[in-house]
Amino acid sequence: MLLSATHLAKRFPNGVAALDDLSFSLTTGDFVSLLGPSGCGKSTALRLIAGLLAPDRGNVTYENGKPDIGFVFQEPTLMPWGDALANARLPLDLKKMPRAEADVAARAALARVGLAGFETAMPRELSGGMKMRVSIARALAAKPKILLLDEPFAALDEITRASLNEDLLRLWREHRERSKQKNESLTILFVTHSVAESCYLSERVLVLSPRPGRLTADIALPKQAERAPGFRLSPQFLDCQRAVSQALERAA
Ligand code: ADP
Ligand code: MG
Repeated sequence: MLLSATHLAKRFPNGVAALDDLSFSLTTGDFVSLLGPSGCGKSTALRLIAGLLAPDRGNVTYENGKPDIGFVFQEPTLMPWGDALANARLPLDLKKMPRAEADVAARAALARVGLAGFETAMPRELSGGMKMRVSIARALAAKPKILLLDEPFAALDEITRASLNEDLLRLWREHRERSKQKNESLTILFVTHSVAESCYLSERVLVLSPRPGRLTADIALPKQAERAPGFRLSPQFLDCQRAVSQALERAA
């Protein structure tokens, strides 16, 4: 067990109850989606997990102390005045890592998201998909153990989105391969309102009810390693989507 969220509840000062009683846990190396309709409290849940927001009730506990967490927002939120390298380096600058060392780590993170050679590109010169890649590189630069992504690809066109889906899966698999030698597993919690995306990417889908969000289903999907090539067009993929869609309908 890597982290446990227990009975999380959050009501905002305006009276909106975003979450009522949300409990789930993650195991190291998981790729889990948090799926639910707009406004059900997904972003709130992610901010509670990251510690960016405090719950009214409940808590988030970590087995071995709170690890480094990378956060990817729906908008790339890049600094317009910094190039790709400076943007990817930001968390390391905040940690006061020496510049030369931080540059090496940020370059490596950019290379991992397919942006080698774009270090000096400014955000205005990058497409939406490339900006999101920089944003992911920034989240990875500090080598987090947990990556939280909040509908990161929702604003992208379908083709770009599919390509970023592949890259995210590849990144996660690379960590998994390396973790056989070293403890480098990456645990991903991916927020989405897309049934197809949750089924394609993750091995487990947590389904939330409409606001206030509660966990209404915890669905295990076939492991990535067990999926045949061409999974996206396979009957198995349709079966997964049917199971998840039905859970979502039952929650409504
Ligand atoms: P989701 O990410 O699933 O769309 P959110 O977690 O962003 O949902 O929001 C859940 C509910 O809480 C929504 O009704 C939203 O308007 C409300 N909400 C979110 N953040 C705040 C805030 N800072 N102040 C007041 N209400 C908020
Ligand atoms: Mg949201």
